[in-house]
Amino acid sequence: MPLTRPPETLTALRGVGPKIAEALQRLGIMHPRDLIFHLPVRYEDRTQLTTLDALHTQMPVLLEGRIVGHHVAPGRRPQAVLNFEDVTGRARIRLFHFSRAYLQTLGQANAVRLFGEPRWNQGMVEFIHPEIQVYRETPPPLEDRLTPIYPTTEGLTQPRLRDLISQVLNAGPDAWALEELLSLTHRNTRPPLWDALIALHCPARHLPPEPYVERLALEELLAHRLLLMERRRRLRAARAPACAIHIDSRHQLLAALPFTLTDAQARVITEIDADLAEPVPMMRLLQGDVGSGKTLVAAMTALTVLSRGYQVALMAPTELLAEQHLREFVRWYAPLGISVHWLSGSIKGRVRRETLAAIAVGEARLVIGTHALFQDQVVFSKLGFVIIDEQHRFGVAQRLQLHEKGGQTVPHQLIMTATPIPRTLAMTQFADLDISIIDALPPGRTPIETRLVPQTRDLEMIHRIDAQLDTGGQAYWVCTLIEESDQLSAEAAETRALKLQEQLSHRRIGLVHGRLKSDEKGKVMQAFAEGNLDILVATTVIEVGVNVPNAHIMVIENPERLGLAQLHQLRGRVGRGRRESYCILLYGPDLGRDTVERLTLVRDTLDGFALAEADLRLRGPGEVSGTRQTGELAFRVAQLEMHGHLLDEVVTLAEALSGDEATQQRLLDRWIGNRESFAHV
Ligand code: ADP
Ligand code: MG
Repeated sequence: MPLTRPPETLTALRGVGPKIAEALQRLGIMHPRDLIFHLPVRYEDRTQLTTLDALHTQMPVLLEGRIVGHHVAPGRRPQAVLNFEDVTGRARIRLFHFSRAYLQTLGQANAVRLFGEPRWNQGMVEFIHPEIQVYRETPPPLEDRLTPIYPTTEGLTQPRLRDLISQVLNAGPDAWALEELLSLTHRNTRPPLWDALIALHCPARHLPPEPYVERLALEELLAHRLLLMERRRRLRAARAPACAIHIDSRHQLLAALPFTLTDAQARVITEIDADLAEPVPMMRLLQGDVGSGKTLVAAMTALTVLSRGYQVALMAPTELLAEQHLREFVRWYAPLGISVHWLSGSIKGRVRRETLAAIAVGEARLVIGTHALFQDQVVFSKLGFVIIDEQHRFGVAQRLQLHEKGGQTVPHQLIMTATPIPRTLAMTQFADLDISIIDALPPGRTPIETRLVPQTRDLEMIHRIDAQLDTGGQAYWVCTLIEESDQLSAEAAETRALKLQEQLSHRRIGLVHGRLKSDEKGKVMQAFAEGNLDILVATTVIEVGVNVPNAHIMVIENPERLGLAQLHQLRGRVGRGRRESYCILLYGPDLGRDTVERLTLVRDTLDGFALAEADLRLRGPGEVSGTRQTGELAFRVAQLEMHGHLLDEVVTLAEALSGDEATQQRLLDRWIGNRESFAHV
């Protein structure tokens, strides 16, 4: 029944009580109108029946037949095993949640339809917890449209959501007075808003045509861009300490270095200098491939702010990396008479109190540390500059948090990353930042040769490495994370280290992993850096930033577990000296075609940018920019890997709207509204 007047509150919808209303609110749906913009994440095809003899892939299918028997397999978690039969064959169904009554109903049904993904188990097709529809009589005709699947949350089923959305859509476009918010020139070649919404919610037998998806993606990307622009405007309205370059200290630092700046380093230093000299907070991303010399850029520019009497905080994502910075800065700054303070989670008790006091009175001028620098107890006296290394581990929220530590003024902020930001991401997730790029490595680096080697040939490879080590040099051996488990990957690394020590008893082998205490880790790293170890077996803790120029071999075990950008980062640990360097990807058995393709790509390209673009294409933006972990806003319709071509238009649209706050607000309400983060189905 179409509604004549649109419902004004969630509970005015048929089937919505306080519980459901609460679930809807968790999804950011506060008003029935918000349901119109709650768009499907994917679709399922229940428009056609398949038969058991025609199953070839694991794609979900719809089958019709009968349940011809069942038994309950006992155990800690009893399961019901049902025998399903259609006109062409038999399959097994496994259920973990069931009641005796339900099993009986299934057995007595005239027909059942099941929808699920087939698996093959000991030659038999199996379905684990498929959706089952039970029919006493002849089943009704099949659905004639794809079934939309929506993002949802606990307590809200897909059929319920579909019903609510169709109630709202049935009221029609006029009832909701939906406004077209794109200007005429941008919409005259595109379908009207309402048609696009209907196309996505109620697709025909095929996926919604791209022009409809694009119509909505364009608006959504625009809303996100407006949000970032707004954030940027707000930031730039604040005041920051204007710091002009201090020539003397810089000359002194440069003169002490055994090399000169690369042109790329000099250029980004000039860009940063220009920002620091302004009384407006800098918000800049410094992007440079591993080994491009970002740390020195940080040291040179920090000097400017220090020399004007302001404090500088340098933060790294891991203790290991922060310690390395500490050593480097102490070496560079000690001759200039600048002391360096250290703050990490493992600093406790009296030392911690003293450090906090030194920071609070401004006696600690440069503070290097980990996340510990973010904590509330850390109060700076005159913080002027915050440098964050390896930014992809930090989210937007965190990058704003440090701003509040400046007191009266907002500190300048420099975020350094080795992960190249593809243009599509730069124009969306990072549109609130300025970007500087170090696009050249220091001279004298030799390209790294990458090889793919199956794990079955590891022994042969170990002997080749041994021969290589005879010429000097050192090797990393990285054991990748096992299903996110610290414990297991630490064990894997331990086992590998023991085995290597047996096979190469004349070599000095060290081990670092995340479960070691920080000072133990530091000791092992130090020993490796000083050349007192030949092989360092590690988990991915060494991924970012570790710098040992004498190391020239990198073995990555099970590279198939890592993304392209991560592999590239790891590989960047070698090739830093003059020695010819090697990266060996020691892959496990049974790789899929995609994986082989990915690893081959890493082998054949040394260009971090190209790899980041490929990563974006293959794994989606969440993985690449780290938004998954940091819970940033996800897009509903837009997919960067597909809609990158819309971005220039988005920029034009956003500029055209710059004076029109009312329309901006409406776009933000429509696409961002109250959503903090988005649950997934
Ligand atoms: P990343 O950009 O990965 O952080 P680092 O700052 O760790 O790179 O620099 C890698 C190595 O290159 C360090 O040993 C550093 O001292 C050295 N380096 C930095 N700049 C130059 C340069 N202009 N010429 C030669 N070596 C440099
Ligand atoms: Mg670095």
